[in-house]
Amino acid sequence: MSDSKAIERGRLLFAQECRFLRPIVSLEDVPDTELPEVAFIGRSNVGKSSLINALTGRNALARVSNTPGRTREINLFDLGRQLILVDLPGYGFARVAKAQSAAWRRLINGYLKGRPQLARVCLLIDSRHGVKDSDEEMMELLDGAAVSFHTILTKIDKIAAPDIANVLNSAAGATAKHTAGHPEVFVTSSEKGTGLAELRAALAGVALTADSGYKPAPAGRNRA
Ligand code: GDP
Repeated sequence: MSDSKAIERGRLLFAQECRFLRPIVSLEDVPDTELPEVAFIGRSNVGKSSLINALTGRNALARVSNTPGRTREINLFDLGRQLILVDLPGYGFARVAKAQSAAWRRLINGYLKGRPQLARVCLLIDSRHGVKDSDEEMMELLDGAAVSFHTILTKIDKIAAPDIANVLNSAAGATAKHTAGHPEVFVTSSEKGTGLAELRAALAGVALTADSGYKPAPAGRNRA
């Protein structure tokens, strides 16, 4: 597919109705859907809610918060019955109590390893901070779960233009060390709209279409 066709397909996909399913606080709540899923994850305050809102063109779909570590549940959004966007709770927040962080690990691990329809993860990295230890841990977890991930640099508008290439190279280098790391790294700004069309196009590549021939894996299959 040509770049312009892919961009148009992404635009059309993300222009569709996006319906909030329900918050998930434990693995038993995960709905039994068959659509392909793309999950968004990153350190708290990385700009995850802003990115989901910007991609879908809705201002308040995912809650934008100035209180890091507040969201502890998984939120699912059905995009036009073609793709499910999954908003995973942020990590790397020091003030989150240990017990809460163990519960987070169980929930995230269980979801990542037990979800055959999870087609791609978008791992968000704040351009100003680069890849941190907790991001490396997440990349390792994704290697273990065999879920392919895109590294997405966020808030690129906050970086001086001459520094962008360095930030991108270093994130691409960190991603390339991981078997689950997808070679395509995205540079985005939810504020300015940078990179959103390209990311929509990539995600449309895993969405269900009438001619995609997508067949959901049998229920209950486990990646672990
Ligand atoms: P989350 O905790 O990962 O969901 O992060 P949020 O989406 O709530 O964003 C955290 C903070 O970063 C908020 O104050 C946002 O307004 C800000 N932010 C998010 N994305 C961008 C961006 O692309 N550019 C700029 N300048 N600020 C951003």
